Amino acid sequence: MAIIVHKYGGTSMGSPERIKNVARRVAKWHRAGHQMVVVVSAMSGETNRLIALAKEIMPNPDPRELDVVASTGEQVSIGLLAMALKVLGVEAVSFNGTQAGILTDSAYTKARIQSIDADVVKRELDAGKVVIVAGFQGRDAAGNVTTLGRGGSDTSGVAMAVALKAAECLIFTDVDGVYTTDPRIEPAARRLDVISFEEMLELASLGSKVLQIRSVEFAGKYHVPLRVLSSLTDPDIPVDVEAASGTLISFEEDPKMEKALVSGIACTRDESKITLVNVPDTPGIAYKILGPVAAHNIDVDMIVQNVGAQGTTDFTFTVPKGETERALKVIEEEVAPVCKPREVAVDKAIAKVSIVGIGMRSHAGVACRIFETLASEGINIQMIGTSEIKVSVVVEDKYMELAVRALHQAFGLAQDD
Ligand code: ADP
Ligand code: ASP
Ligand code: MG
Repeated sequence: MAIIVHKYGGTSMGSPERIKNVARRVAKWHRAGHQMVVVVSAMSGETNRLIALAKEIMPNPDPRELDVVASTGEQVSIGLLAMALKVLGVEAVSFNGTQAGILTDSAYTKARIQSIDADVVKRELDAGKVVIVAGFQGRDAAGNVTTLGRGGSDTSGVAMAVALKAAECLIFTDVDGVYTTDPRIEPAARRLDVISFEEMLELASLGSKVLQIRSVEFAGKYHVPLRVLSSLTDPDIPVDVEAASGTLISFEEDPKMEKALVSGIACTRDESKITLVNVPDTPGIAYKILGPVAAHNIDVDMIVQNVGAQGTTDFTFTVPKGETERALKVIEEEVAPVCKPREVAVDKAIAKVSIVGIGMRSHAGVACRIFETLASEGINIQMIGTSEIKVSVVVEDKYMELAVRALHQAFGLAQDD
């Protein structure tokens, strides 16, 4: 009997009715002879509510206690789903992250899974039960509750699949697969039957929240078959039909996919831009600025250094929005005394729009078409970053949706090719 992992997100678990539908879907797979592990998120809006609650008590919440609070949404979900399955006559048992043996490091609010001791879960599976596991959470070596970063239940799902050597991990969500771009921004976006692992990794890392980046990394490292599909369809559709629906994340080098110049567009408002005006244009300046920032474990993404004039230059970089204040403090305390910028400017009203495609490798001209398209919409590009399979631009945040739609159109992504 194959072990299958299902993961259901917030919208999928968003009401008692929806939880009952999840139970029907899981019961159907169980009846079809699979050993079922189900990883679930908190009901939609719940994690936001819990974090807001914590901030009412402590504006800058203590990270350990924030994880204690934020992880509770998932505990409610697992209990409710176990009950819904019992009502259907299916033997089920719920486990929180600790009980499921999920061990993480101690980086509260963004912990990484280090290992999973799946013995308890296996025992229950072998006893014929459906095992329900709380996503988004684990415990560190000292027993503290940790959470895996927003959207982390995807990673819990894939990690459980790895630990159990599951045949497949199915990520059920509120869209019926991975699209050429966020279908909520561009209704003409097209669902992809298959996407290469490499492209999915790039889209996720550039802001497509349909899968948390770490879940894709895990799937890639251990070659777990991964599929994104809808939880909002009729829960009684036949298992074999459902098993072939949605989008498959493929590890094969698919010749058909190679042809796609561009396969998707990602966008995010999760970064802010910091500029040090008038710093010395001398060797080592980038290191003097970014060294201390990196030493404080703040991720820097896009970087631009202007052409110097009269011995000085402007130096701009982006950091995660949530780390802006911390980055500014580092600059004020450790960088400014050395580099003496005339001014440190912060801009939180930015968005990053990225075009991704493995076909770009062999095509010049993608970047040009992006610049031409944005220019014709009157959108100014503030920063540009490229890699083999992506081009990212930073624009004013109010233009994000417009930029995505214009580029989606310009690259003909709506049409089937
Ligand atoms: P869940 O709660 O199930 O984890 P999320 O809200 O985290 O769901 O992720 C699903 C959402 O991801 C979709 O509703 C959609 O708006 C968004 N999304 C962003 N980019 C894409 C994309 N390329 N394809 C599909 N959905 C996308
Ligand atoms: N409930 C968590 C969040 O809202 C984890 C998840 O949904 O994947 O970020
Ligand atoms: Mg999610």
